[in-house]
Order: sequence, then structure tokens, then C-alpha cells
Amino acid sequence: MKKIIPFVLVLCLCFSCKNESTSKTIAEVENPIESTIEKPEFAIIIHGGAGTILKKNMTPEKEAAYKAKLEEAIRVGYEILKNGGSSLDAVEKTINVMEDSPLFNAGKGAVFTNAETNELDASIMDGKTLNAGASAGTTNIRNPINLARAVMEKSKHVMLSGKGAETFAEEQGLTTVDPSYFHTDRRLESLKRVKDREAKALINSAAKSGKVDTESAYLDFYDADIKNAKFGTVGCAALDKNGNLAAGTSTGGMTNKRYGRVGDAPIIGSGTYANNATCAVSSTGWGEYFIRAQVAHDISALMDYKGLSLKEAAKIVLGKVADLGGDGGIVAMDKNGNMVAEFNTAGMYRATMNDKGELTIGIYENKD
Ligand code: ASP
Repeated sequence: MKKIIPFVLVLCLCFSCKNESTSKTIAEVENPIESTIEKPEFAIIIHGGAGTILKKNMTPEKEAAYKAKLEEAIRVGYEILKNGGSSLDAVEKTINVMEDSPLFNAGKGAVFTNAETNELDASIMDGKTLNAGASAGTTNIRNPINLARAVMEKSKHVMLSGKGAETFAEEQGLTTVDPSYFHTDRRLESLKRVKDREAKALINSAAKSGKVDTESAYLDFYDADIKNAKFGTVGCAALDKNGNLAAGTSTGGMTNKRYGRVGDAPIIGSGTYANNATCAVSSTGWGEYFIRAQVAHDISALMDYKGLSLKEAAKIVLGKVADLGGDGGIVAMDKNGNMVAEFNTAGMYRATMNDKGELTIGIYENKD
């Protein structure tokens, strides 16, 4: 018989599902309330990035496309978990669906670097063993989350980067692609817009100060520009029937990144963390701040050392990110199957499914 446990209920304000593919209710993930319900046998939560995602800028078609892809992705993980598969498999295969979609900043939809290339990062962690794997700055591995898992399971290392990571992936027989596979017009246009704004900021700064100070103009511009960014990284946290937690994250990083910049997504403890004793977390947002605040591990540590609930811990840690000047969000699952989607941006693409097959999908801050 299932155990009855105190539970942080994440689902509120249901609205009827408009998606024809399911008759299940789709609800916006909202602020939680304390409740008591059955501990689920398994559960899964995903995100497709946080940021300045506003209803007024969204067309009904675009919104429907995001919701459909989130649903397609989470159902893949749900089926694996329902059939007794591992949380690691659920995380990896769910992320694959989002990596293969141009909608998200991961895999096929990765953003462009300043040099008009795509450099991808990913990580995965097993909550049972605390094993972890990550890859950074790869340009020809179709599904970086698969590489992260191979690093975890087939190498003695936790993180591989660049050419070495690509060689390892090829040795492991992972699918490689020509780097042009990652090029999408939409992301190239975003890069061009950012570069135009950057050039204007430089001209304005030179006009004001009378001298060309490329570095400080760039830094001022960079901070202001990212404040309005959309972070389309994808991530997943899952609990399987054996009580094992796992989390994973995959990204193209930040538009216009340069100098081999690596964000939080492949950093274990920042972008991804999982521990069966506490929770599994995947982050999205302004990576530099998520690294400095050690977001994913800090949430676990607050639960571990202070006995906080997942929701309390997530709120505190995202508060620390905000205090530093950063923004973004996380999805997380605790060992009892409580799911939390927390963010300090206008929106975050997200979805949950429990063992009853109940699906929730959210995009904006509340119910809109
Ligand atoms: N966190 C990612 C990074 O900083 C960006 C994102 O979430 O989209 O690379």
C-alpha cells in the first residue's frame, strides 16, 4: 500500500486541455500549498528554459507548439518510469526530445556564439550513486546529454570538454553531425540582433565618454541585454519506482558567448544535482550567477543540513541568485515525489507528470 505523506502540492488553477492529443487536464504550475496526498510511485518534471517569456509576445500557434513539445517530451519519460525504467533513462530520453526540437536552446535549437558557431554543454547526475557526467563546448555531438551520460558511465571522469569530449563521444559510438546541423535561422537572427545592439551601445558609449572603451561598453551592454534574455536550456528531474532520483540539463549556452565561455548547465552542483537523500534539480538562467550561487547543490544542502522542504530551499537559493543580480529558475523533485518549479523571471516553460498520468504545463508566471 502506498504511504500517505505530507506533500507540497504544486498544481493549482486547472484549465481545460486544448491539446487534442490527450483528454487529461493541463494545469499551470503555480505557487504550492501544503497538503497531504499519496506519495507517488514515480514522477517527472521538465523545463524548457526561463526568461522574459510574456504572453503579449506570444502567438497562439507558438504557445501551442511549445506546449505540444513539452507534452511530447514528458510523456516519453513518463512511459519509461511507468514501465519500471530508471530515472536516468527517463531524464536522458526526455531531454533528447527537447534537444531534437528547434524550439529550445539545446541540441538542434542551440544559440550561436559570437563567432557564429554552436557550442553545446550538458550534464546528468544519478541520485543513487552520486555519479555524474558532463560535457562542455562540443560542436558535433547531436545529443549532448547522451555524451554526459557516457562520460558518467564509460569514463573515469566527470567532465570532458571541446575536442577531447568529441573524440570520446566518437569512440563511444555516439551520433555525430556536421556542425551546420545546429544552425537555425531563428537563432542566427537573434545573434545578429544582439550584435547590432552591441555595436550601437559601443557607439553611444564612445559618444558619451569621448573615447572608445570597447571592454567597458561591452560589459555594460552585456548586463543590460541579458536582463531581457530568454534562457531556452532544457532540463529534467525524475523519480523512479525504485526510489532513485536523477537530473539532467542540456544547453547551447548564451547567445553571443565568446572565449569558450561555459555556463552552469554542465557544472555539477550548479546546473544539475541529484541525491536520493534529498532531491534532483535542473537549472536554467544566467549561468554565471547559477555557478556562483551553486544553485542545484545549495538546494540539496539546505534540505540536508537544515531540514528544509524542497520549496523552501528553492525559494531561498533563487533569492540568493536575485540578490547577486542574476535571474532564472529551476525544476526539482524531492525523494518523496514533490515537484517544484521556481523562477524569478517572467516565465519558464515547464511541465510535470505524476504516476496517475496527470499532466501540468506552465509557461507564464501564473495562470495566464
Ligand atoms: N544557463 C544557461 C547558461 O548560462 C543558459 C540557459 O539557461 O538558457 O549557459
